[in-house]
Amino acid sequence: MRSIGLDFEHRRLAEQSIPPPPPPGPDEVLLRIHEVGICATDRELSKFRFGTPPEGETYLVLGHEALAQVEVGNGQWAKGDWVAPMIRRSCTPACSHCASGRRDMCLTGQYLERGISRAHGYLMPYTLERGDELLRVPESVLDVAALSEPLSVVEKAVATALRAHPMEPRTALVAGAGPVGILTALLLQLKGLTVTVLSLEPEDHPRARLLRDAGIPYLRDRRPERADLVFEAAGGALDVLEWVAPCGVLLLIGASEEPLPLPPLRMLVDNLTVAGTVNAGRVHFEQAIADLGRLPRRSLEAMMERRDLDAWPKSFDGSPAAPKVVHRFD
Ligand SMILES: [Zn+2]
Ligand SMILES: [Zn+2]
Repeated sequence: MRSIGLDFEHRRLAEQSIPPPPPPGPDEVLLRIHEVGICATDRELSKFRFGTPPEGETYLVLGHEALAQVEVGNGQWAKGDWVAPMIRRSCTPACSHCASGRRDMCLTGQYLERGISRAHGYLMPYTLERGDELLRVPESVLDVAALSEPLSVVEKAVATALRAHPMEPRTALVAGAGPVGILTALLLQLKGLTVTVLSLEPEDHPRARLLRDAGIPYLRDRRPERADLVFEAAGGALDVLEWVAPCGVLLLIGASEEPLPLPPLRMLVDNLTVAGTVNAGRVHFEQAIADLGRLPRRSLEAMMERRDLDAWPKSFDGSPAAPKVVHRFD
């Protein structure tokens, strides 16, 4: 069957034919993949900046944002159920956080991630999955369910920022208008905060229009007002701490490797908190799937551009106008 992934032997992104999965074991189900979203992580993987094939193999199937349907079920799942899989798997032997079900908080860093690290992803028509790695997707949100995984990451980041703020935050600023930045802004707006997005795209860019259509102001060149919660989702804005209001929280979700200047005096005088989060727990996935039904559907749909699988080579290059490219298998 077809698959798209990283050939570590020849260091290239390639389509490869791989054998179909064997019949599922007792805890497993056979999934038929319908849609797979591509994100900045996949684009970084395609340049071999990170990523590891499964042990003993030289090829890694990419794709970690999947919407699938159960093809062969077990006691827990029936044929035809719509599901979204979680991507991170426990380290071995499991650290205390992995053992308690919070693999997103793994202490050893030796976890597996499907489509990223030591486990194949979902850019293939069929795969096996353990039943307890799946979340049920209601039919009412099927058309936007490819956003479940990125939204789960955002749910965790927003919950962390709200918990870290010592008072009641009212305003938020999101730096970056990629899929994570846009989902963060939409979720904060749903929670009743006044949100502004700051990014580098021109004011007439489709991403800026999408935000304005959702009632979220978009800034490119103007200096923002200080906000109670600031989310760095751009991967590299340097003066981002300047924008945090007293008692505020700076939450890092963009994978920047630039050092962040931390002015110690201002941090203590203004009671500032800086935090980072990655990945998501089951609770965040469940919240994401519930919130897909509450967020403005028009905005979510405008985020996505669906492409046939044949168009995969152009999905790993550059920055598409629509924040989220989704490959469909049927
Ligand atoms: Zn992703
Ligand atoms: Zn662990």
